Amino acid sequence: MPQRPTALPPLTALSAPLLTWSDTSPHSDDFDDVYFSREGGLEETEHVFLNTNRLPERFAAWESTRAFVIGETGFGTGLNMLCAWACFEQHAPAGARLHLLSTEKYPLDRTSLERALRAWPSLAGYSQVLCEQWPASVSGVHRLHLSDRVTLDLHYGDTTERLALLDGQVDAWFLDGFAPSKNPQMWQPELFEAMAARSRPGATFATFTCAGIVKRGLKAAGFTWKKVPGCGRKREILAGMIETPPVDKRREATPWFTPPAPLKTQHVAVIGAGIAGCSVAAALARRGIKVSVIERTAPGAGGSGNRQGALYVKLAADTNHQSRFYLSGLLYSQRWLSQLKAPSLWQPCGVVQLATNAKEAKRQQRFSEQHALPEAVVVSPLTQGLSEAAGVTIDAQHALFYPQAGWVRPKALCEHLLQSPNITLTQGEVTSLNREHEHWQLKLADGRTINADHVVIASAHYANTFTQTAFAPLQQVRGQVSEVTLPVGVKGPERVVCAGGYVSPAFEGVLTFGASFVPNNDSTEVTDTDHQRNIEELRQTLPALVAELETALESTGAQLTPQALEGRAAVRAASPDKTPYAGPVPDASAWQSAYAVLGKDASRAPDVAGEHYPGLWISTAHGSRGLSSAPLCAEVIASRLCDDPMPLEAPLVDHLHAGRRIISAIIRGQ
Ligand code: SAM
Repeated sequence: MPQRPTALPPLTALSAPLLTWSDTSPHSDDFDDVYFSREGGLEETEHVFLNTNRLPERFAAWESTRAFVIGETGFGTGLNMLCAWACFEQHAPAGARLHLLSTEKYPLDRTSLERALRAWPSLAGYSQVLCEQWPASVSGVHRLHLSDRVTLDLHYGDTTERLALLDGQVDAWFLDGFAPSKNPQMWQPELFEAMAARSRPGATFATFTCAGIVKRGLKAAGFTWKKVPGCGRKREILAGMIETPPVDKRREATPWFTPPAPLKTQHVAVIGAGIAGCSVAAALARRGIKVSVIERTAPGAGGSGNRQGALYVKLAADTNHQSRFYLSGLLYSQRWLSQLKAPSLWQPCGVVQLATNAKEAKRQQRFSEQHALPEAVVVSPLTQGLSEAAGVTIDAQHALFYPQAGWVRPKALCEHLLQSPNITLTQGEVTSLNREHEHWQLKLADGRTINADHVVIASAHYANTFTQTAFAPLQQVRGQVSEVTLPVGVKGPERVVCAGGYVSPAFEGVLTFGASFVPNNDSTEVTDTDHQRNIEELRQTLPALVAELETALESTGAQLTPQALEGRAAVRAASPDKTPYAGPVPDASAWQSAYAVLGKDASRAPDVAGEHYPGLWISTAHGSRGLSSAPLCAEVIASRLCDDPMPLEAPLVDHLHAGRRIISAIIRGQ
């Protein structure tokens, strides 16, 4: 019987640990144990985790194009990981990359984190970077870019559960966590099995404990170990390795999602310079890869070309994979945008999601009952002080409030993302893709050709015009935004307010609202019909603002009519299940024959890995939520392409795979 894919644990806020402090040194009241030794914590970390794993030598010799990966159980104050980062900076050659991943079930709040890290002045620069990006305490994977070559994934939740969901492999383990006698629940055989299954051949580990349960568990999972001298209060500690990790059986039930083998990666061609293409180009360029972006018109000329776009998501009342992906995407985009250090590109002013009818209020109520998320992520429900919260008069009684979401200048963002010395922009239209002699040849409409090791197709609704991608259904959805110059005295909202559409705070005196949503329409003509629709939507969402606008315009002899508005229309691409396509491109005809049996019995998964076009990738179907989805999808693609750990749980990575459409069509008998 094939192993079922691991279900995702509930999406929830995690509780903060109960701490007692002795100056900057935290003690866990829950576990009655210390986070680090009060005497010489730094030296202890260096000895136990860094030197025992031989990190200085291994970093110095690291020549691979993939990142060196350290996995840790129990992030705590981050001391171990910051020391590993500092050690990497000291020893690794230029161009090497480090990937840190760590689990944590009881994340410190930021104030406690800052307090604990104050103990280590020599790490102050590293600590500051970590604290600035410290995520809200929500279960899931949080990717932080600590520097151009160092990435940290915080896997929030129970260690064993999280390692089972990890899509990635580790070179060196820091087996931390409170002492087995204080935290027996964590040190179970399943933990060591999950570590073994996520290890690269030859992966090492180090741990401060020599407890019998740890030695036995590691051995049973396939690790060898030996005692080595400790330091401080620890006379002896454990070190070891795993020569041949067990075969990953996780995809037995869904063999089609088995990732393609990594290939040489020096030069990648990206088709399309909207937010999907530009963010994937930036994610690859950050990894030192040369990228050619090919765009038929100009960066941000399509759906990513508006002056302002809302950064928000609409989460399902009952958690599903799509919702989880979008929440992760929103949180990632917020961090990623802050980190661009280009404040003119976006405003994290907050987003108020109004319930303008009873059905939506009920849906939001249900969402609030199902999800106890931290208020730094979403305040739910918001039933009082809505007008004060939005900075504009609001009639609705019910809303959700995302305090760190906001609005972005998508076109300016696309242009900004291409400003890397590793990226070149070519204007042209790619008409076909051919794989020849281990590389792709892209033919352009004007006869030019471009060669690359990999190709990422990120051209929105044009993405399925290639023979290799024709299987992926895409719907064209026309969207028009309307713009009005605010008359003197009218201020507009202070936050993005959305209901059916959205309205942003005014930018350079212009209020942008919309967008219309016209499925199966690829016209980019600005029409009065869509302007009128946007006015009516705005009237429903913010009637008081529309009345104020009308009065102010009338006093100048103008009216709030379509003729008084400017606007822009673009076509967005959507998939039938409203989830983007992000990942490797499957060979549809190979899948149709390999998995035809699913049409008779959907539970019979043949033992055949899914065939993919080598080095061909897709990122599209971002609909009208590309600001939340595209940057994380870019990380999904760049991570897989570079053989780095993935920034999402394995089931969510699979959920983004375009091949899901092929499998569901076979099962439905189509
Ligand atoms: N590595 C940390 C550092 O550098 O500061 C110290 C880790 S502290 C000794 C142990 C950590 O493991 C705590 O942060 C605790 O919340 C976490 N932890 C304990 N049990 C856990 C579990 N089952 N899953 C995930 N984290 C756990």
